[in-house]
Amino acid sequence: MLRRAVAVELEVPREVSKLLYDVESVYLGIVREVAVYAVVNNVTSTTQLQGLFYRKYRLEYPSLNSQLIIQAIRQAAQIAKSFMERRREGLADKPYPEVRSVSIRFTEIAWSYNQFVGSIAPVRLAVSPISTGRRGRGGRRFEVWLRPHKRFWLYWWRVLTGEAELASTLLIKRRLNKWYAIFIFEIKPKEEEPRSIVAFDINENTVAVGRIDIETTVDKVAKWNKQYLTPQLYMIRTDFGKLARRYERVRSAIIEKLKPGFALPNGKYMNITNTREYRKRVKHLREGVRKVGRVRQVASELTRTPAIIITEELGDNPQESMIEDVGKDELRHRIKQTPFKAVERAVEDKALERGSKLVRVSSYRNSRVCPIHFTRLEKTDDWHTLYCPKGHYVDRDYASILNMLWKTTPEAWTKGVWWNLRREMNWREYEGKSNPSIPYETVSHLWTHLKTFTASEESPAMLARGKPMNPTGEADEGGGEETSQKGRRPRFLNGPHKPTPTGN
Ligand SMILES: [Zn+2]
Repeated sequence: MLRRAVAVELEVPREVSKLLYDVESVYLGIVREVAVYAVVNNVTSTTQLQGLFYRKYRLEYPSLNSQLIIQAIRQAAQIAKSFMERRREGLADKPYPEVRSVSIRFTEIAWSYNQFVGSIAPVRLAVSPISTGRRGRGGRRFEVWLRPHKRFWLYWWRVLTGEAELASTLLIKRRLNKWYAIFIFEIKPKEEEPRSIVAFDINENTVAVGRIDIETTVDKVAKWNKQYLTPQLYMIRTDFGKLARRYERVRSAIIEKLKPGFALPNGKYMNITNTREYRKRVKHLREGVRKVGRVRQVASELTRTPAIIITEELGDNPQESMIEDVGKDELRHRIKQTPFKAVERAVEDKALERGSKLVRVSSYRNSRVCPIHFTRLEKTDDWHTLYCPKGHYVDRDYASILNMLWKTTPEAWTKGVWWNLRREMNWREYEGKSNPSIPYETVSHLWTHLKTFTASEESPAMLARGKPMNPTGEADEGGGEETSQKGRRPRFLNGPHKPTPTGN
């Protein structure tokens, strides 16, 4: 289940606003007190904390809706739990959690949930932060109007069409002196027929993409044209590495500037990155914000149409495994800055929302095998270009995504990408099988594509060209020599797939 939070500003009459301020401060007080108690005494069970604190606060604040007390204690338990987790990982530098602000949680009985979801176009709601003072009479209702915006209506439309549900808990949050209602929409993942197969691979500055569009009708299959059977290979520029380098420079400039103020008597300097001044300045750089924007862009591009999306199985710490054979300190640092996991999460999330499915395949030898001949690729002077002993060059990134595609087909489950089978894996047990999480039809479609692709004499050339689909016409990063030195006859034709007169 996917969750999306949508904040809508509230039009709150002055008296209600005052009341909410009071409620907020009491609520925050409870959350703080209970969270600290929980951490200090190592008690994080909600039931236990309710038992310890509910009566106390009920007596202390008799007019507060008892539902809010229960929710505040729950919230405290969650805060304590995640604080203790962070502490265990060495990420918390304070002895106990500091709760600066809270959103007040209203369960379905503390706000007009039923009325709200029954409405075609809700424009107001009622909250009951305080009780009537009479036993069993629940809370006093206060009506507030919403200032709904486009995003809210888009989600509301999905509620009406049954694609989403509104969660029954409402959050009320204050930002400066404005009040907001935060609605949580639970979106049902779409199930759609995949219309394409997409493989992607995240690199330092680009995301390599291979896309195959699926034609469904038999008629179209009969008219298959080689042009349409070739996977589209292209790059999405992300420049995560470049971005990291630029910010690195800015950060060192800040350190240099601050240094004079933090000199120690012995002529050395304090660790400036720990100072408040440094943190304050770095915060304004918004590096994270820019990264997130690019991550979303990638996710959106990859999920344009409902698709089977194939990517590498990333370990817990993909950066670490990637830098194993990277020597230079600077490059190691940049790889660490590449948000592999963030991209993957964003893609998975968007995929669910748009009816796509993410399939992970092993990264085993993805960029070391020729996706046409299944031979071991050799290194060249250019890190990006590899050489197939059958006589052509291959772009490392394209080799990688094509091999991922292969890995979902029966062919590759038994042969090919994995020479030297005995030692690494027992692939025989998978003979004739394909990846079970992909519909058989899609797999056979993909297989046809790849088969045709490998039979085409043009494909190795296509692979060797730096970035064939790059719209900016960037400089060719490929080996170069295959097109310039051997005269009229490009080297890739030396392989087994010589052009025949009957070709095409
Ligand atoms: Zn080859």
